[in-house]
Amino acid sequence: MPFVTRFAPSPTGRLHKGHAFSALCAFDAAREAGGRFILRIEDIDPTRCRPQFEDGIYEDLRWLGLSWEEPVRRQSDHLADYAAAVETLRQRDLVYRCFRTRKEILDGIGHAPHGITDAVRPGPHPADEEAELLQGGKPFAWRLSLERARDAIGGAAWDTLSFFEEGHGPDGETGRIRVRPEIAGDVVLARKDAGAAYHLACVHDDALQGISHVIRGVDLFEATHIQRLIQTLFGWPEPVYRHHRLMTDADGKRFAKRDGSVTLAALRDGGLTAEALREDVRQQRAF
Ligand code: GLU
Repeated sequence: MPFVTRFAPSPTGRLHKGHAFSALCAFDAAREAGGRFILRIEDIDPTRCRPQFEDGIYEDLRWLGLSWEEPVRRQSDHLADYAAAVETLRQRDLVYRCFRTRKEILDGIGHAPHGITDAVRPGPHPADEEAELLQGGKPFAWRLSLERARDAIGGAAWDTLSFFEEGHGPDGETGRIRVRPEIAGDVVLARKDAGAAYHLACVHDDALQGISHVIRGVDLFEATHIQRLIQTLFGWPEPVYRHHRLMTDADGKRFAKRDGSVTLAALRDGGLTAEALREDVRQQRAF
């Protein structure tokens, strides 16, 4: 099987050192394996993605010395593909409309007797309520029903569903990992505002692009559980996963957009060379 991997950033800000680390992990792995490296722009969130950040991604990665196959797949150009995939699941009765707002769901969880932590499973609305909401034109998201998904693939397959981890999860998990879809709950597969959501678009494209190795940060390790289930429902191939540690600064703190980490652009303007950055990144490399 040919080795194909990808770096799939979302253009929600300028790239920082953590991104350089992740991109180089995938790029170097492809080189070492004599395989292919794909850059994919995951820009389906219209509230957070900006074209200038996409331009910044190309600029920063080129400066870093990376090259990739053209044309680059930009997810916002392919919303119809993701909608068609959701429609397939709708025809199989595996998704349901959810009209609830985030606040309504969180309030619901707060009032649940035993408190659900992260696994949101609001369930379908009663038919009459749904009809009324539809008629009122209220926007809705499509959620995957774990209950129906379990019925669809069968209890035996559900109980043995797994993925192969060549790197490490946050607690050192490695090798064959049992999938626990309930970690994510009834995830949204199509957002109210965007028509598509991350998990579906991501696994759709991994399958379409023939990704054999998903190399990404350990912060996405938990996402693999639900992504494997979605692959299984569609009969898409199973890639190997290689989650890498997250790069940290001198104080051991992770680089993150929300913390206002110094961007690669700012470091470059300050005189940092791509060679020095690559060296810094490779020093920290370990899966
Ligand atoms: N677009 C995602 C992000 O920027 C990464 C998706 C993935 O690598 O699976 O966090």
